[in-house]
Amino acid sequence: MTHRITLTRFIIEQQAETTDASGTFTLLLNNIVTACKHIAIKVNRGQLIDVLGSAGSENVQGEVQKKLDIITHDIMVNAVNWTGQLAGMVSEEIDDFIRIPAPYKKGKYLLLFDPLDGSSNIDINLSVGTIFSVLRCQEGIEPELNDFLRQGFEQVCAGFVVYGPSTMLILTTGQGVNGFTLDQDVGEFILTHPAMKIPKQTSEFAINMSNQRFWEAPVQRYIKECMQGTEGVRGRDFNMRWIASFVADGYRILTRGGVFLYPLDSRNPKQPARLRLLYEANPMAFIIEQAGGLCITGYERMLTIIPSSLHQRVPVMMGSKDEVERLLMYHQEGQRD
Ligand code: MG
Repeated sequence: MTHRITLTRFIIEQQAETTDASGTFTLLLNNIVTACKHIAIKVNRGQLIDVLGSAGSENVQGEVQKKLDIITHDIMVNAVNWTGQLAGMVSEEIDDFIRIPAPYKKGKYLLLFDPLDGSSNIDINLSVGTIFSVLRCQEGIEPELNDFLRQGFEQVCAGFVVYGPSTMLILTTGQGVNGFTLDQDVGEFILTHPAMKIPKQTSEFAINMSNQRFWEAPVQRYIKECMQGTEGVRGRDFNMRWIASFVADGYRILTRGGVFLYPLDSRNPKQPARLRLLYEANPMAFIIEQAGGLCITGYERMLTIIPSSLHQRVPVMMGSKDEVERLLMYHQEGQRD
């Protein structure tokens, strides 16, 4: 590639085409991406620099924290809190939202992030990621809880980085989805997957089958019909993939289609869903829909959910449009019965 388009150039050129272009947003994105490059190095070196394993603590959601959960959270916060572009942050690792410390200036954006998604995969050397979502906020104010509890369609930017065989950044600012690969030699993300599109149809599903007996009826029906293959109502065979890493499963769907389900689970009434709305489901939903797919909770479109708390969990069904529409129909039919 002789004319490589770096992420910075891409964002500046894309911003020049929009009326509310601002260098502030480019700076913010650059700082987020710098944090992700640092995280990529930590993830890649792994046990050589003693970052694997448990930290011996629990996060706000009662999950055991890995050393890398804490390290990556600190990397992200320290990369962005001083720059004057943010009014506040939300991290998976911290109960309350994070204020911008004095004497730093407050800006007009809010950053919500999961610094290390799929961290239970880190010790077995499977792909992990960072997910982020950017919301707009009144400039210069001290944000309150309600400023963060916004519907997904209000996001100005969403992205995730997969630390896999290549480190890849997937990004949307509401003008389609683009994929960038980290060139480790020069430390730049290069546009390698422009205008990503999810095929409307698919014969591949992703779900944790071991939880089958805890699912609701519409999900039971959908998966049963897929598994009946050519002998059932679908009239064709399906294939299954399950990486159990939200970013890695999401990336596969973006590149070759498929449907991913993390449905409601009746086992633990206090925690019927697994994935977090504000910094996992919403940014992924924005990306999936910008690539021509669809993301729902089962009964509703993800991006229309009005959040009630920072760490709220939601069921997630996303991917190729035809399959997700079928899932929505099964849920709506179930409600009418
Ligand atoms: Mg995490």
